Amino acid sequence: MADIIKLLPDHVANQIAAGEVVQRPASVVKELLENAIDAGASKVKLIVKEGGKTLIQVVDDGIGMSETDARLSFERHATSKISTAEDLFNLNTKGFRGEALASIAAIAHVDLQTKPEQAEIGTHLKIEGSKVVSQEVAVTPKGTSISVKNLFFNIPARRNFLKSNQVELRHITDEFQRVALVHPSVAFQFYNNGSELFNLPNESFRQRVVHIFGNRMNERLVPVQEDTDVVKVSGFICKPEFAKKSRGEQFFFANGRFIKSPYLHHAVVAAFEGLIKSDTHPGYFINIEVAPASIDINIHPTKTEVKFDDENTLYAILRSAIKHGLGQFNVVPTLDFDHDGNLDTPYTYREKAAILPKVTVDSRFNPFETVVNKKQGVPYKKQDVTGWENLYTEVDDKNDSFSSVHFESELDAPEIFESEEETIESSQTTFQLQRKYIVTTIKSGMLFIDQNRAHRRILYERFLENEQVKEGISQQLLFPLELQFSTNEVEILKKLSKELSLLGFAVDFVNNEQVTITGIPNIMTESSIGTVLDDLLKGYEQEQTGHLVLPVLMAKTLCRSLSVKNGQLLQSDAQIALVNDLFGCKESKLDPFKKVIYITMGVEAIENKFM
Ligand code: ADP
Ligand code: MG
Repeated sequence: MADIIKLLPDHVANQIAAGEVVQRPASVVKELLENAIDAGASKVKLIVKEGGKTLIQVVDDGIGMSETDARLSFERHATSKISTAEDLFNLNTKGFRGEALASIAAIAHVDLQTKPEQAEIGTHLKIEGSKVVSQEVAVTPKGTSISVKNLFFNIPARRNFLKSNQVELRHITDEFQRVALVHPSVAFQFYNNGSELFNLPNESFRQRVVHIFGNRMNERLVPVQEDTDVVKVSGFICKPEFAKKSRGEQFFFANGRFIKSPYLHHAVVAAFEGLIKSDTHPGYFINIEVAPASIDINIHPTKTEVKFDDENTLYAILRSAIKHGLGQFNVVPTLDFDHDGNLDTPYTYREKAAILPKVTVDSRFNPFETVVNKKQGVPYKKQDVTGWENLYTEVDDKNDSFSSVHFESELDAPEIFESEEETIESSQTTFQLQRKYIVTTIKSGMLFIDQNRAHRRILYERFLENEQVKEGISQQLLFPLELQFSTNEVEILKKLSKELSLLGFAVDFVNNEQVTITGIPNIMTESSIGTVLDDLLKGYEQEQTGHLVLPVLMAKTLCRSLSVKNGQLLQSDAQIALVNDLFGCKESKLDPFKKVIYITMGVEAIENKFM
């Protein structure tokens, strides 16, 4: 094979938006995967270790490089993909800057083995911190294998800045999915620390989506298709009833690359208007194809924003394509490939009415002296509780990026009980206001308790307590539940398995897309399992900063899923129990998301109103 890499002339290089290419392991993964695609690979293998911090390897069966090209590929502005400034406006490749390999080699140990198809023998090159440390001939198959080891070995500050392995792996997985989704005809394998996360054959776009996000996605997809002179739109949207509280799966691809576009996102949301609740988000996987000359992707090396020539038209076409797709789906049932009806069963549980968590009353209980251990019903002194309160201080002091709930400015909740003897009156009456607040009296006035926040606090402490005493109280399911997940989700559940069992879950891992639940925490009802596990997975995935300890993360997610919601009617015994349980909590003023649980209205304030 002739040498094909050239150094870009300065005037061309200068028209390329510059910026830092490598920010984290995921950036390396993206660049290497895209190079493999540009090299025309039909099979690509990604291998990472420890969140990519110690190893990122990409092996492809693409065109490979000659010996000279192998050397040149690590030079800045060395590329085979463009040569003139005009080429910048007619890009058909992912890469064009000729910068990625140079940037990566500057901050890591790189090992390259490559061979073009026709060549007898290949090239093996080792580079550390931009310096070539060895170059040899090598017997190697057609294609290219690049290993990137010890990322940022020469910039300790950057290395320390990296997040936990789990968080970096999450970013890598995101990049992997973005590239794999838009190239379904390329087979991909992805290994992390020796275990296979994905094995994707050459397949259709629909199958690729289902393969990555799990079988249950199949029944949710509705095709979208529109061909015009300006743009070709294709792909899938998720049926309105599967819109999620969290953003979930939303993908735009323009000319084969993942992009972010708030404007086009708006077009999708507009098409769903009236079909989904305003606080939920539709899922979509949409490919947009436009003439290469009408899209500018040269904005920033790592930004996923692009500029389209005629955005308004695109917006209109996209919106109508989606409306059309939604309309069709109402009449024509969607075609399912190898659809296994059995697998849907667990999700029908979601349609069942929510069952009010059982709250029991303990009449002997005086919340202001002791805490009652719910399990044995034995009161014990507050001071005796040690250990798990550390978990809160941990949470309360830190910014909580996990929660999508926005914190109100931290109100300094006043002490409601100024003196010891000031308690909730013994002949206690409570009532529910707007199915949202529990109202009761204290000696000095009125107390308004937000039922949802109060219950979150109670459940949160109970979960942490279970976790601390290392015995989640479990109720066995009469009929074990089989649940389908994506490979990635099963992987996460495996990581959480210890905590899950401490909380009272009994989980059997059947294969890499299926688990069987044989027991659940006794606080929970069977009908909520699907939702709770989904919330848990979402919470875990969103926990990008990795500073929440697992039990806290799980307790937070579970208390949010399982708490009594606003709008739910509570009988008076449940109201009283809620009040008592709340004031039996270690912290009763703020819920786990730092929202104020109750407010008081003093007699004086009431009197003032009558002045
Ligand atoms: P760019 O992709 O922008 O051209 P890179 O630094 O990523 O810049 O790569 C430089 C050059 O090295 C590419 O233009 C290509 O010719 C060659 N190259 C990189 N990776 C591969 C690969 N996996 N297979 C074949 N050639 C490659
Ligand atoms: Mg590249």
